[in-house]
Amino acid sequence: DNPDDARMVERLLSESQGAMEICSGRFKAFEVSWVRGLAEAFGLLSHCKLEPTGFSAVLVDLQLSDATELEALAAVRSAAASAPVIVLTDFDDDGLALTAIQQGAQDYVAKDHLDGRLLVRTIRHAIERKRAEVELRCHAREVEAARARIEQQAAELRRINRELDDFTYIASHDLKEPLRGIAAYCGILLEDYQDKLDVDGKQRLDTLVRLCGRLENLIGDLLTYCHVGGSRPMQCKIDLGRVAEEVIEMLRPSIDHRCALVRITDSLPAVPGDATLIGMVLSNLIGNGLKFNDHQRPRIEIGCLPTSPATIYVRDNGIGIEPKYHEDIFTIFRRLHGRTEYEGTGAGLTIVRKIIQTHGGRIWLESAPGKGTTFFFTLGPSAEKPPLEQPPKAPHWTQHAAAAQQSGIRSFAS
Ligand code: ADP
Repeated sequence: DNPDDARMVERLLSESQGAMEICSGRFKAFEVSWVRGLAEAFGLLSHCKLEPTGFSAVLVDLQLSDATELEALAAVRSAAASAPVIVLTDFDDDGLALTAIQQGAQDYVAKDHLDGRLLVRTIRHAIERKRAEVELRCHAREVEAARARIEQQAAELRRINRELDDFTYIASHDLKEPLRGIAAYCGILLEDYQDKLDVDGKQRLDTLVRLCGRLENLIGDLLTYCHVGGSRPMQCKIDLGRVAEEVIEMLRPSIDHRCALVRITDSLPAVPGDATLIGMVLSNLIGNGLKFNDHQRPRIEIGCLPTSPATIYVRDNGIGIEPKYHEDIFTIFRRLHGRTEYEGTGAGLTIVRKIIQTHGGRIWLESAPGKGTTFFFTLGPSAEKPPLEQPPKAPHWTQHAAAAQQSGIRSFAS
């Protein structure tokens, strides 16, 4: 609103070599329009839409006759959101100028220090800064839109998964009834008609009863699989050490039967989760360590690595697993051996992984044929996921044995 200031700006710009046109790199003379106050500025801005045909930048006095401090800035920003704004201060008022920048101005210059080169440079920098800001905002909007799309797809996937689980649950449940009927009729035939059956007939009926039993186990596992995925487990803290001890006690008959040594090496942390489900995880992993183990004296070690969240591991000295099967074994009913070699349905690890995933964690393993197997799992999202190829290493048996000896605990017999 000061004609002298306006004329000075106009003169400095017209005397300058011209502005470097940002896109084309050519020099081009400045075209300057000036107005006497905010009301007139509004009129001009609403007539002339900004870039590419309108204004490349707006220079605004912090105080105008029709606007108080910073009001002019806010008003110009709302009227011309895509234009860079440079604030002209009357004196070297850095405090006010900085507030102007915090409120969206791209730069400021003090009128009493003004020269042509400084003004041109400030305008060019402001234009670049604004362009970067607009691009950044545009990217942020794209990222936000992509995130919303992913969230929507994830919700859709969760819904489909729930439907599949419901379907599997109902189908399995309904299959159980007729299956029980078949098994019962086989029993009746074997008991009441044994005089009429020859050896071959009896053998076939026995096979039928065995197959019914197997099918019942498979259906039972399917039901468990559906059941554990139902909802997010309770998130109160459980004492993992205590859960592990209870599981070991429960498995005591099989442990003793195999003359196995099962021990908890580290003090296990308290973790948020469902004790029953985590008990199932440990029981499955320990059970597998006993089952897939040809040693006279199987050894199983349950420990914890100090990651965040804690990494729990279950390590065995069993037959091991070829690396190419490390992912396959989590597929439902996938088994690497015949049932005559090792009993089972092939659903255990699938259930284990589902339980861990519903706790927000993940499971992986280290294993090779003849070298034993270590399953690692976390129960909660990691701040930073260790890459799959380099999971935290479980300490070696010998390290534990040495540590155990140092602390007076009887070490493992090899
Ligand atoms: P199941 O124990 O009923 O066979 P799982 O889902 O628990 O089913 O395991 C799938 C397959 O992974 C097993 O059949 C076995 O081949 C392999 N496996 C699992 N745990 C171990 C282990 N600790 N050592 C060696 N092989 C294992």
